[in-house]
Amino acid sequence: MFKNIPKVDKILEWPDIRAVCCRYPRPVVMEAIRSTLDSLRMEIREKNISPDSLDEKTITERVLAELAASTAPSLKRVVNGTGVVIHTNLGRSPLSQAVREKLLDTAFAYSNLEFDLQSGERGSRYSHVEPLLCRLTGAEAALVVNNNAAAVLLALSALAGGKEVVVSRGELVEIGGSFRIPDIMRLSGAVLKEVGTTNRTHPSDYRQAMGPETGLLLKVHTSNFAIVGFTAAVSPSELAEIGREAAIPVMADIGSGNLFDFSSAGIPGEPMVQEYVRAGVDLITFSGDKLLGGPQAGIIVGKRSCLEPLRKHPLLRALRIDKLTLAALEETLRLYLDERLAREEIPTIRMLTVDLESLTLRGRRLLRLLRRTLPGTVRVSLTDGFSQVGGGAMPLLELPTKLLSITVAGISANGLESRLRKSSVPVLGRIQSDLFLLDLRTILDPDIPVIVSALAFIAGEKVKDEG
Ligand SMILES: *Cc1c(COP(=O)(O)O)cnc(C)c1O
Repeated sequence: MFKNIPKVDKILEWPDIRAVCCRYPRPVVMEAIRSTLDSLRMEIREKNISPDSLDEKTITERVLAELAASTAPSLKRVVNGTGVVIHTNLGRSPLSQAVREKLLDTAFAYSNLEFDLQSGERGSRYSHVEPLLCRLTGAEAALVVNNNAAAVLLALSALAGGKEVVVSRGELVEIGGSFRIPDIMRLSGAVLKEVGTTNRTHPSDYRQAMGPETGLLLKVHTSNFAIVGFTAAVSPSELAEIGREAAIPVMADIGSGNLFDFSSAGIPGEPMVQEYVRAGVDLITFSGDKLLGGPQAGIIVGKRSCLEPLRKHPLLRALRIDKLTLAALEETLRLYLDERLAREEIPTIRMLTVDLESLTLRGRRLLRLLRRTLPGTVRVSLTDGFSQVGGGAMPLLELPTKLLSITVAGISANGLESRLRKSSVPVLGRIQSDLFLLDLRTILDPDIPVIVSALAFIAGEKVKDEG
């Protein structure tokens, strides 16, 4: 059979292969042919091959499939039916439609990124969001960088490089992706001084640890876990007071950093950024793409004098925010000027605050649509369940939700999960008690036709299999 494998030159002359040579660069086509022939040789060696595998038609199909797979874009849109609203592996917060125009304008034209239109002189990229951030949080000054990990690294380097930073043992957190407070501390050149115990830290612990070497008091929000039971922590305002007495700056890494009052929507909220500012904390860092619902960014707000060393530090240039991110961040922040607008227009906030009744109505509408358009082999129903906030925020909170349960005759729950995940627009859900489920909370309106056509395709394919 090895002898019957056609030569590359011969394959290149086949009409269907010649046709694709106009669409793809020749080396890419050659690569696809070679890789197909390699697999064929392997299959012959393993005696795992049928006689017609060496036909022109079969080989052509395989080369075209290989070509399509090797040239397909890697990063793509997916449907998040997992019910985890801020899903770090799925890109955290989808942006508001209100951001779209601004993002396109900034991407495809020049902008006043670092140009002051009043004076005609060089400007600062940070000036586009600083006044907004100050207005929304009540802080004196603000700065933005690539992400919150960068914000913490920059702040520690600029304020505490070579000095001691006092942190409670209950707050030496790992966020995931190897972001650990002790590691970031070492990288910044600051020396970690742990105080208190895992479950209890008191004001006196900080006071006793402070000395001439102390550069900063740091509070880290325990975003992704909760210590319950016999606990004590020093509040932001108590820590701010301790710092003020000793003239040592106090910083808080609050992780999610919401500007929206989630408690007004019946969700026992994370502390708002505004509360930390009011408590007198000198420097506060948080993410742009967690509860804020914007693009990946690290936001730093606080006292003007504390931000000054950050602005002058060489790391700021290395951790600089990109213009598209800045455009998306400014538009997202502008929505916060009107709380109602923020709630309606920012998908993350909308998904977290939507009530069960709206989810039920939406679920019923989707059921009707699916039953009308899909073959009888696809069965759908609504069940109750819980969604999660995700993004390391409110780890214990379970939001009551409605789930779409889907079965397709002849396909197991695992099989359905795998096929939907490999759809041209992947549809991701979860399996519970051997049922495939999509959480309505995290499904966006434009996802609905995607779900319908993915299921129609899978059901059609199944019918074909059986025929
Ligand atoms: C998420 C988080 C970070 C990291 O933020 P990124 O924006 O992902 O870099 C740092 N600290 C805390 C407390 C967090 O929750």
